[in-house]
Amino acid sequence: MKSKVALIPCSSYDKEILYRSLNQGLELLGGLEPLIGKEENILFKPNLVRSAKRERAVVTDPAVMEALFAIFREKGYSHLACGDSCGIGSAGKAMKECGMDEALERWNVTLKEFQNEQKVETERGRTLTLAKDVLQADALVSVCKMKTHALERITGAVKNQYGCVCGMHKAMGHTQYPNADIFARMLADLNLTIRPRLYLMDGITAMEGNGPTSGDPVSMNVLLFSTDPVALDSVVCHLVHLDPQLVPTNIHGEKMGLGTWKSSQIEVVTPDGIYTPEQIRQIYGKPEFHVDRKKIKGKNIMDSFRVFGIFRKKPYIVKDQCRKCGVCVSACPVEGKAIQFKNGRTNPPVYDYKKCIRCFCCQEMCPHRAIKVK
Ligand code: SF4
Ligand code: SF4
Repeated sequence: MKSKVALIPCSSYDKEILYRSLNQGLELLGGLEPLIGKEENILFKPNLVRSAKRERAVVTDPAVMEALFAIFREKGYSHLACGDSCGIGSAGKAMKECGMDEALERWNVTLKEFQNEQKVETERGRTLTLAKDVLQADALVSVCKMKTHALERITGAVKNQYGCVCGMHKAMGHTQYPNADIFARMLADLNLTIRPRLYLMDGITAMEGNGPTSGDPVSMNVLLFSTDPVALDSVVCHLVHLDPQLVPTNIHGEKMGLGTWKSSQIEVVTPDGIYTPEQIRQIYGKPEFHVDRKKIKGKNIMDSFRVFGIFRKKPYIVKDQCRKCGVCVSACPVEGKAIQFKNGRTNPPVYDYKKCIRCFCCQEMCPHRAIKVK
């Protein structure tokens, strides 16, 4: 059987339009009831990587969450909670900044901060430190944002669950899983362990360029729904004219049995009919979307380049944008820090590229969009 991804064209965060569009997408997927029982404890997991105004397209839009809360409540779901473990700061603060806190209050949804942790041994032999709130929920509903990502090229349905790893363990995870492939395998394992019931993507306003927190908002005008996160992310790749095979979470997600990125195994259901991902690319795709489409060279060649640090992506600071806040230094998970204030606090921090593992936590956490990747 093919993996189903529902796609609803939607160009507005207007409450009523969203309510209709989300209902329509859920119906196309087969409805909520077969997926989630009415009495289950449901935990929504938006992308709240850090505090940001909603216009910046850093976080899942609060209007999407509000419409979802309304739909679940009206269908008779009684136990609703919503939370995340942000890269920096608290979920409550991030919600307040974008206005999601009001949606929780209006629909009586409990805020979960993902502070209490529990070690979990996965079936594939990893130890992950996860939020107890996630482990105690009956059904996880992952609501991600369509964005670019320095390490994995895009961040979508699979990557969103990294927020279920508690606090500083996220940063430390980058030292444990220090390249895009190893990191992607851990993400697939994480998803297979906590198994969200449903994945949704806010792709009305996406982020292109220097994502996932310092890029530029761009209209993509879609909402996506699936129970297969790899298929959902593969459809995103088609929409942004990126070869799905260039995204490590797609490749490893497929190999590990999380889902499929292959077009022949995906059907995209829309209000106008069923399409292949290629047809979706033609109808809704944006070839000018700014994302890293460079192919990786042969493994052996790349390994030797890596030894000499050639052709590796690296973060750098745009000096006149830097406000010397030090968030990047705090975010760096490497022992002894690969970025430091070497010339006093009146100058921007300086990289030690020999120590740097290219996790891009500094770029992700810089609140002033001062770190880029070249
Ligand atoms: S986080 Fe950004 S603004 Fe703050 S010191 Fe680092 S580069 Fe500068
Ligand atoms: S300097 Fe930045 S990219 Fe390099 S290891 Fe530290 S946080 Fe990661």
